Order: sequence, then structure tokens, then C-alpha cells
Amino acid sequence: MKEVYPGIFLVKEVGRFKTIKPPVNIYLIPGRNGIIFDAGYGDKKTIQKVINKINALKTTYTNKGRDFNISRILISHCHPDHFSGLKRLRRHLKVRIILTEDQAKLIKNKKKYHEAFDGDSYKDYLIIKKGMRGKIRSLFELLLSHFIYRMVYRMTFITHVDELIDNETHIFINGIKWEVIASPGHSSDHISLYNQEIGVLLSGDNVLPSITTWLGPPNSDIRAYIESIERIQNLPNLNIILPAHGKIILNPQERIKEILDHRKERTVQTLKIIKEQGDQGLSPGDIIKALYPDANKVLREFARGWVCLTLKSLEEQNKIIRKEEKNHIRFYSVATNQGL
Ligand SMILES: [Zn+2]
Repeated sequence: MKEVYPGIFLVKEVGRFKTIKPPVNIYLIPGRNGIIFDAGYGDKKTIQKVINKINALKTTYTNKGRDFNISRILISHCHPDHFSGLKRLRRHLKVRIILTEDQAKLIKNKKKYHEAFDGDSYKDYLIIKKGMRGKIRSLFELLLSHFIYRMVYRMTFITHVDELIDNETHIFINGIKWEVIASPGHSSDHISLYNQEIGVLLSGDNVLPSITTWLGPPNSDIRAYIESIERIQNLPNLNIILPAHGKIILNPQERIKEILDHRKERTVQTLKIIKEQGDQGLSPGDIIKALYPDANKVLREFARGWVCLTLKSLEEQNKIIRKEEKNHIRFYSVATNQGL
């Protein structure tokens, strides 16, 4: 197991199918009163691997006469690749589950979870799905997503939380203070853990090393996301970011700037594409195609989320307008439509 910072270990969960089940990073900070940060997937095989790795590390620690106690588990946010393993890890490792109040509400049961994360596809994803075909398609998508939740992620819900904490607070890990920082945007309940003294941030999905963080309705918010990233940018003494996916980030300021610039560029690009179309307008599908000319269908589907949020925010700023017709939605630049 990799020691990514003295006393902080990384357990890399192996994924499957690349985009549906990406590899996840779980961090361990063992000691007198240690923690696990993020729970990963909930399937038996993955959980067993995590437990084996923890046990191997325990042996190494014990042989050296060092304290090895992991008493608690926290998660960055309530997406399936971060919380699904909670229940099984608690049972096998006898750890206490600590959640923020927002997190506890979201994963209390299946109903609450779906209310928060399953969007209305027409309003949120800007696809008009009317008639029988639309209904069949929606039903198929719903069944597929539920199948993936159950069979691939093995999601389990947490009716009993051992300890509730605020979104903004601090916890002591092995006697050392770590700040809990609310960092919504990617998900409304997202938190990060920061130790200012050593400058280490456990960033969850907010700052990733090479890919852009997924954003999409109904639980993401672009403005909140940018504010969270700017807050992280201004953390005093930020040295290293330990993300939930991919490699550790040794150049945090550079990476954060890249992320902020990227978001700005994408907004400008989206507006430009719509403007260039003039009176013709563009459908959401056409906009995604123009933004990702060479991408395959899966990647375009993943991009739909941020494109939707960007279009919504451009609408709110009165830079574009939406016209809904019988079978399609089209977007027009306000600048080219003033005469209409
Ligand atoms: Zn996530």
C-alpha cells in the first residue's frame, strides 16, 4: 500500500468498465484514533480487498510497535463510488460512520436518495421525451440506472449514523486537528478535509488531477462549484491534494487554476457556438456535438450534465433564450434575437 504522505495511506480500488465504475481512492490515516476517508464500492470482492490491505498494514504497524487503530469512517460525498461500501466496512472493521447532516439525509434510504439524484430528464437534461417512445426510453433508463446501483455499485443505505457532524467543523485524527470544509458544487453535500499545518487536503471529487469533475443536474451547481474551488485555492499553506480518483496532486495551485480557466473557457465556448448559429438556434444535442466533435456517444452523454448547467446559467444571465417546440428545444443568443 502506498504511503502518499507520512502516516497517510492510499488504497486504490480497482474499477470496472472504465466510465461506469471508475477506480476510486480510499485514504487511511491510522493511529490512536484513525480514520478512513471515503468508502468506495459496496461489492463483496472490492470490500474484501480493502479489508485485506488494511489488515496487512495493521500487521506492519503492530510489528513496529506503532498504534494502529481505525475507529471512524467519513465520506467526501454521497455518490455511489464514495458511499456504497460504508455499511460493509462498518460491519467488518467495527468503525463508526460519521456523516454530515446533509449526507445522512441523502443516503438514509433508497427513496431519499432517488429524490435527490434522479433528475427530471425533460427539464433537467433538456431532452423532450413525449409520447409512448419517450415513456419507454425514460423507463428503460430508470431500470438501467437502478440495475447499475444494485448490481455494480452494491449501494446500501445508512439508516443508523453513529455520529453526525456539521458541514463546517473540525475533527481530531490521532490528536491532530483537521478542518471539515463544506465544498458543494459537484454534489450539494460535498466536504473536504484539510490539515493546515502540513498543507494536506483530501479533496474528494472536487479537484481531480487529469479529468474534469462531473457536473450535472439535479444535485450539482456550477456557481457553488467554482466558489468551492476558489475557497480551496485560498487555503493557507496548501501543499498537496489527495483526490478521490487518479494520482496525487503535487502542484495544487497550478491544477486549480487550470480547472477554473477550463470552466470559464467552456462557458465562453458554449455562448460562442450559440451566437454563431444566429437565428437558426441550436438544440442541446447540437451544442454538445459542437463542443465534442470527435467524442463518442458515452462521453457526450457524460458531458450533457455540465452543458445543461451552463445553458441554465447563461439563461439566468439573459445571454441566451430557450424556445420549446413540440419535439425539440432550441437555444438562441439574446444578442442575435433582439430584433425578433
Ligand atoms: Zn462524485
